[in-house]
Amino acid sequence: MPLSDSLGRPLRDLRISVTDRCNFRCRYCMPREHFGSDHKFLAKEEILSYEEISKLAESMIPLGLKKLRITGGEPLMRRDIANLVEMLRRLGDDLDLAMTTNGVLLKNHAEALKQAGLNRVTVSLDALDRDLFQKMGDTRHEPSEVIEGIDEALRVGLEVKVNMVVQRSLNETQIVPIANMCFERTLTPRFIEFMDVGVTNQWNLEAVVSGQEIRDALSKEYGDLEAVKPDHPSDVARRWTTPQGYEFGLIQSVTEPFCGDCSRARISANGSMYTCLFASEGHDLRALLRFDANHDQLQHAIQSIWMDRKDRYSEQRTKQVEVPSKVEMSFIGG
Ligand code: SAM
Ligand code: SF4
Ligand code: SF4
Repeated sequence: MPLSDSLGRPLRDLRISVTDRCNFRCRYCMPREHFGSDHKFLAKEEILSYEEISKLAESMIPLGLKKLRITGGEPLMRRDIANLVEMLRRLGDDLDLAMTTNGVLLKNHAEALKQAGLNRVTVSLDALDRDLFQKMGDTRHEPSEVIEGIDEALRVGLEVKVNMVVQRSLNETQIVPIANMCFERTLTPRFIEFMDVGVTNQWNLEAVVSGQEIRDALSKEYGDLEAVKPDHPSDVARRWTTPQGYEFGLIQSVTEPFCGDCSRARISANGSMYTCLFASEGHDLRALLRFDANHDQLQHAIQSIWMDRKDRYSEQRTKQVEVPSKVEMSFIGG
């Protein structure tokens, strides 16, 4: 019998954070006042090795794992990341292997990642306007570096998607320019509602631009939009097409939560398993790995964590009494 949690949801997707460090300080994710020079990032020995990550992933395959996403922090800051991709690819040709990155280091890594067996890359890009890009990412990098990364990824044959987090009175003006940049390259942009992950990003509901508002902006530019049938119920993005045949996605975790089909587990860089993006506590798998647990023991531990899972934070958001301490997204992996 396939594994399912207490609400009947399978374990299909795993997001692995390979580092809690990042070369950006996006205001909505790692604001510098909380992640400044005095912030204590994980020490090297606290972080899972590639062998440990691969062993965990291998233990999850018999439990139904189909999709694996490497994320962070910024995954391309971890040394020899293509080696991890290669190890994960050895676990099975059918495993869907993806990475989420801010894209500024992608130009130099795309070829090696493709060669190692990565299928897909999701590049985060919140603005094409240089000043806005630098303000949102609190960075000196340029949007042109990200575009070069995207173009190189396409050149080497990776499937590319672009993620844009939309915040009110900040980057709504960038919805159409980013859509145009993607459509010119026949890429799918995905517009994400600003989420209340972690506790440092000063989230408030007024700053959320709803999927409906994003659709209105795109429909004004391109004409009447049509909904596309989802490929799989656990797909996070609802897809739409423009009359010109361009496709885009909306990730509406605030206004249209999708917990009912959520099949995602997460592993933080220090080896804790989280059953929800909004969890406050993880389950330590690193201790098991370092006590030399075998595949059966790991599988058993993961199985019982999953069977216990009841999370549906986004569906309960409005009824929620204050959650004590949600883990930060840069730590758990977006
Ligand atoms: N550094 C990589 C990047 O930015 O693509 C990977 C990690 S990042 C945490 C993964 C994704 O989470 C990015 O697309 C980012 O825009 C998104 N994200 C981070 N904080 C968010 C928030 N508060 N609301 C919505 N999306 C967020
Ligand atoms: Fe870094 Fe990604 Fe978070 Fe921005 S969203 S601070 S790039 S981890
Ligand atoms: Fe999944 Fe938690 Fe997000 Fe709901 S809130 S979709 S359970 S990660």
